[in-house]
Amino acid sequence: MKINALVAQDATQPLSSSHVSLRPLQKQDVKIEILYCGVCHSDLHMARNEWGVSRYPLVPGHEIVGRVAQTGAGVTRFKAGDIVGVGVMVDACRECHFCRQQEEQYCEAGFTATYNGIDKYTGESTWGGYAQAVIVDEDFVVSVPQHLPLAGVAPMLCAGVTVWSPLRHYAVKAGDRVGVVGLGGLGHMAVKLASALGAEVTLFTTSPEKGADAQRLGAKQVVVSRDAAQMAACQTTLDIIIDCVAAPHDLNPYLATLKTNGRLVLVGIPDSPHLSPDVTPMVFRRLSISGSSIGSIKETQEMLDFCGQHHITADIELIAGEEIENAYARMLKGDVRYRFVIDMQATRW
Ligand code: NAP
Ligand code: ZN
Ligand code: ZN
Repeated sequence: MKINALVAQDATQPLSSSHVSLRPLQKQDVKIEILYCGVCHSDLHMARNEWGVSRYPLVPGHEIVGRVAQTGAGVTRFKAGDIVGVGVMVDACRECHFCRQQEEQYCEAGFTATYNGIDKYTGESTWGGYAQAVIVDEDFVVSVPQHLPLAGVAPMLCAGVTVWSPLRHYAVKAGDRVGVVGLGGLGHMAVKLASALGAEVTLFTTSPEKGADAQRLGAKQVVVSRDAAQMAACQTTLDIIIDCVAAPHDLNPYLATLKTNGRLVLVGIPDSPHLSPDVTPMVFRRLSISGSSIGSIKETQEMLDFCGQHHITADIELIAGEEIENAYARMLKGDVRYRFVIDMQATRW
């Protein structure tokens, strides 16, 4: 079945409206009419082949909220009309150590990505959420709390769970001092979620004009990272930092802000390496640097339920599909307040 989608034909051309084919509905599949899709910085990295793994044509989008249109005969958890979400994964091997312990994001065979993955039924590319519809196995579909504004839920399917997962894995709790680097899509969700968990949040930003927003979102302190005096004032104050920056940068000034036993968690994936960190403070204060990949389906549902209880959604700018290139240009300048979301019904294909 053919649907309309925003397609990148190669790494240099702007995205344009075109058609792609969805796989035939399988027994365990849910067909979802897409209402909203968030615009993740990963979509931009992938559309422009900044990680060198893109295959074209490519349809980005992995922050999907939509309405179930049809279900396969074996589907038990969803029915037509349900409001559901799909994030970064649409399948995994289901047999390896990590799949068995419900951490499909670390599947040893590699999870099937929502876009630019290989569909196991057709052998062709998977198509993402900048589109009218998607067909996904029910095990990779989550339920969305009905009372939340749905456009603001979409970014939680990637940005939200990507910061939720390390906050939970490292058991961040009330009173902990959490740093967040970069107030973009991921960063603003990290500020909201960490403060909802009761942590005291310090936001590091290169954009001083975002300070008031950061405080409104829940940050106790705002530190302009290019200001050496402000950075010096918060040395050895933090338990954990979630670094959400999409570009290479020097990690040493952030390591200096960690207390002994502190941890710097990198979730941003720049297209070239960060400057290598200085080992000395890491040794003498037993510091750790970690990475973290999205979050599991279980964590995604847990995060959505938590957000339902705490009335948390992303702060968004709603756009029509035709505005995607302008959104990418603003994202490259760090000018996102704080996630673009495509309204599929407002999009002229
Ligand atoms: P975003 O909305 O563009 O936010 C990135 C923020 O980083 C900017 O708003 C900016 O905040 C800060 N920044 C500082 N210097 C920058 C520079 N030179 N270029 C760009 N940003 C700069 O991006 P996002 O969607 O949150 O994604 C952030 C990164 O996480 C991307 O690399 C993305 O691919 C990656 N990601 C990883 C995972 C994962 O599983 N680990 C999942 C999703 C996304 P200030 O203005 O406050 O400085
Ligand atoms: Zn993403
Ligand atoms: Zn697996």
